[in-house]
Amino acid sequence: MRLSPTAVLKYETCPRQYYFAEGLRIRPVHPAANLVFGRVVHQAIEAWLRGWLNGRVPDVGARFDRDWTAARAAGGIDYAATQSPESLAATGRALVEQFAAAWPGFGLRPALDADGEPLLERQLEIPLESGLTYVGRFDLAVVDAGGALVCLDVKTSSGLIDPDWLAGADPLTGYQLLLDAHAERLGLPPVGRLGLLELVKRKVTPKGKGPEVRPPLMVARRGPNDLAAYTQKVLWVAEDIDRGRFPKRPLMAHNSPCGLCAFRRWCQDGDPDGLVMPDADSPAPAPAAVVPLAPPAPRAAA
Ligand code: SF4
Repeated sequence: MRLSPTAVLKYETCPRQYYFAEGLRIRPVHPAANLVFGRVVHQAIEAWLRGWLNGRVPDVGARFDRDWTAARAAGGIDYAATQSPESLAATGRALVEQFAAAWPGFGLRPALDADGEPLLERQLEIPLESGLTYVGRFDLAVVDAGGALVCLDVKTSSGLIDPDWLAGADPLTGYQLLLDAHAERLGLPPVGRLGLLELVKRKVTPKGKGPEVRPPLMVARRGPNDLAAYTQKVLWVAEDIDRGRFPKRPLMAHNSPCGLCAFRRWCQDGDPDGLVMPDADSPAPAPAAVVPLAPPAPRAAA
């Protein structure tokens, strides 16, 4: 079994949703605009940072425009009621250009591994126990002005993220585990701090704040107790998956994950419309010992 920080979060959010996505490999026909937008912004920033390190910075706005246009041409994107392709194009271009203007003032440099390669979108993995590999791809590892290694999570968010989130954010704990385990091989010191670089995707308007790149927020590295507690959590999630425990977790009305769930109609009414089901002739690589789940029974009409 291979588990990533995102997979663990997905399982914790709703085990049934995790199973639809990772066990059965069901996919929405139309990817959510937020996902596509975030990916294109990350690509533009990564390309710009590589150029910045080499002294040949690309036109980051043009790069975003090119990739966003290609993503739109590739197929239907599911936009929220408040979004449009044009509004996101303007927001994305403004964000990546702001990022390029702000970056030199942050006093950070992408960390280089022993081969001189920057640690951008780098995937690392570690064995956690027999049959279980923990694998993660972090956005960016940097060196700050004091020489400390900082693992930065780059997020495109709709509103400001609560800074307290950083103190306990599981994905960053996981990235620290991965980076520490590979530090010697990569020629790096252990992680010194964990950080968040937030790109707030407000609409471009003549008035108001508009898109905003926030200065990085940072906290100290996780201590041994936090690392042990997170590792235990990953092992428990792996055990639950291995035993085929995939209950629905709709939670309370005010914090239910169902409203944003791509499988909502399938889960609640047995309606597969809008979903791509895996080909029956080529079974999905389901986790070991997963109990096959029958399609949900249609809900009786009221
Ligand atoms: S609709 Fe709700 S309970 Fe069902 S899979 Fe989605 S998040 Fe889970």
